[in-house]
Amino acid sequence: MKYIICQNPEQLSSGTKEKPGFENGNALLKVNRVGICGTDLHAFKGNQPFFSYPRILGHELAAEVVEIENNPQGLRAGDKVAIIPYVNCGSCVACLAGKTNCCQRIQVLGVHTDGGMQEFISIPSRLLLPANEFDLDEIAIIEPLAIGAHALRRAQTKAGDSIVVMGCGPIGLGIIQLAKYIGATVFVIDVNETRLEIAKSQFQADHFIHALQEPVEKIKELTHGNLVHSVFDATGNKQAIENGIHYMRHGGNYILVGLTKGELAFHHPSIHAKETTLMCSRNATLEDFQFVMKVLREKKFNTQAYITKRVNFESIPTGFNAWTSADSKEIKVMTTWN
Ligand SMILES: [Zn+2]
Ligand SMILES: [Zn+2]
Repeated sequence: MKYIICQNPEQLSSGTKEKPGFENGNALLKVNRVGICGTDLHAFKGNQPFFSYPRILGHELAAEVVEIENNPQGLRAGDKVAIIPYVNCGSCVACLAGKTNCCQRIQVLGVHTDGGMQEFISIPSRLLLPANEFDLDEIAIIEPLAIGAHALRRAQTKAGDSIVVMGCGPIGLGIIQLAKYIGATVFVIDVNETRLEIAKSQFQADHFIHALQEPVEKIKELTHGNLVHSVFDATGNKQAIENGIHYMRHGGNYILVGLTKGELAFHHPSIHAKETTLMCSRNATLEDFQFVMKVLREKKFNTQAYITKRVNFESIPTGFNAWTSADSKEIKVMTTWN
């Protein structure tokens, strides 16, 4: 079978190897779609902190069951599945507390262990979600949207809340439209005008503000001086994260979804005065995947605007550089074998 591997930073190549065999407890799957994501781009560029090489990338997957034994989900050969790509241990303190998303021994497909840029993959069947009701594109975007769903659940965002989302990339756009589904008022901040425009016209953001044009003043004006309940960082940019605290109201919370490689600094009196709840949001759990599937089932997510480019797997080694460039206009690049 064919596969694509990241040998070293900035080095992707294709090859062929033997198809995986059937293992007890696992399902053998045919991979139909792989969404390209920020994590893959960081891995490719060599700035993903949890990453080791060589690695087969790809964790945003739509697949079809080839072989499976009896399973509680009732899956059979030929069924379409979504995949929770976080292989958790089930026995550490985080797993026992239901926080499977931050398992101490987590193995994320395409990060800690080989992912979906291969024709077939063997995955523990407990991580599969039946998805016959969705098309393959929808299935492949469940995972990136679940990241946003998890962040919103961390923040306990509810109807009537106001939030700021910093960064209108694929994760930010997911948070924006899921927050609109919940009934929140959404302010978006980015340095990229095109992205801001898309957030408003395609993903229902209420207000968009350029990061360099006095965002604090503008948000104050639009919230009667109160600022917002929750701020979400989806940039992973140190400066953006350190500034984000100023958009949050007294008693609010601040959720770090993006990831920087180094240290962060906050002016303690500023965060103390607001009794800031500062939290990180890592991966997602089954509950978040189910929430996203509900939203997709109701056709309340703009899948069409989200997937901006479709390419064949074969073009990954040559195309990756262009999709990763800072001026790339793509939101989500979707790859397929045919
Ligand atoms: Zn991803
Ligand atoms: Zn665990």
